[in-house]
Amino acid sequence: MPTSDNIKLIIENIRRNADQIDRDICIMEVCGTHTVAIHRSGIRELLPSNINLISGPGCPVCVTPAGYIDVLIDLARDKNNIITTYGDMVRVTGSESSLEQERANGANVNVVTSAFDALKLAEKNPDKQIIFAAVGFETTTPPTADVVIRAHNSNVKNFAALSAHKLVIPALKALLESPTCAIDGFLCPGHVSVIIGSDAYRPIADSYHKPCVVGGFEPIQIISAIDKIIAQLSENRTDVENVYSVVVKPEGQRHALELINEVFTPADSNWRALGTIPQSGLAIKDKYADFDAEKKFGITIVDVPEPTGCRCGDVIQGLIDPPYCPLFGNTCNPTRPIGPCMVSSEGACQAWFKYGNIRVTQEQKS
Ligand code: SF4
Repeated sequence: MPTSDNIKLIIENIRRNADQIDRDICIMEVCGTHTVAIHRSGIRELLPSNINLISGPGCPVCVTPAGYIDVLIDLARDKNNIITTYGDMVRVTGSESSLEQERANGANVNVVTSAFDALKLAEKNPDKQIIFAAVGFETTTPPTADVVIRAHNSNVKNFAALSAHKLVIPALKALLESPTCAIDGFLCPGHVSVIIGSDAYRPIADSYHKPCVVGGFEPIQIISAIDKIIAQLSENRTDVENVYSVVVKPEGQRHALELINEVFTPADSNWRALGTIPQSGLAIKDKYADFDAEKKFGITIVDVPEPTGCRCGDVIQGLIDPPYCPLFGNTCNPTRPIGPCMVSSEGACQAWFKYGNIRVTQEQKS
């Protein structure tokens, strides 16, 4: 059981090593759950002033493109269809409206807590087409794959998934290849790592020379992961380490990866406010085309501009902290969100707004 003495010792170690580095250090927490845990527990305030924690593109709702929402809205307006989606997605706006607004106007939009619930709805409503909004990273992809296989095996005729599933590693590579990148190391996402395994980060450590440490979500686990990243930087080495080994194995979860590979194939993917990242998404394989909403309904997802003034794209690349968006806390707040990072309970803007930790880097101030 961690004690406050343990935490104090780790923080002291971080301070010692950060002193040796003697420059500003940017550590990206990739996952939205980490962002919230960091803000809620006040970890930022415990760290030396030259360590800056920045948010990454790991909130599923934040990276799902507005054009995808528009397509769901079009489908929802057809009385023959029922849209099924995870909770946060209903509040995100497309170019004009959101699924929540459409539901208030009578569209068939059902919030589900699992992909399996969407398939059950198809069985209960044989006269309707059920479209599952399949969003998220490697954590939510295996359940989608599982229900697609079940639908295929049971010859279900009225179920299809609209895949906006994303892959974490290509996104990290794209961030590192950007000329504006200032990332020194990654606090790797706990949930995704359960599926892909800690070895998946090897190319980031080996080819991009950035420390990667998988962390859990308790404050002691997050602080320990930061300690290991700072230690690597102070020793001028890069490696993959895992302080969440109780659930994250080097090889990941074999069965979940097999499910993903059975149903999906990597494809170029559009990320909200970031654009297309090569081979960073998952498309449904031809074998399961009958359950691919894109093919079944002849859908084309088009690019949609972001709301004027919204800087979600900069926020999820760690280029600015949310308070530097001119709309933060004024016209954009959790009650009336403008961009997806304020909508999602895992969004960086909502975390900053909710927990009020306003610490900004010197560079951003100038
Ligand atoms: Fe977008 Fe609102 Fe965040 Fe600004 S504060 S980046 S408008 S979500």
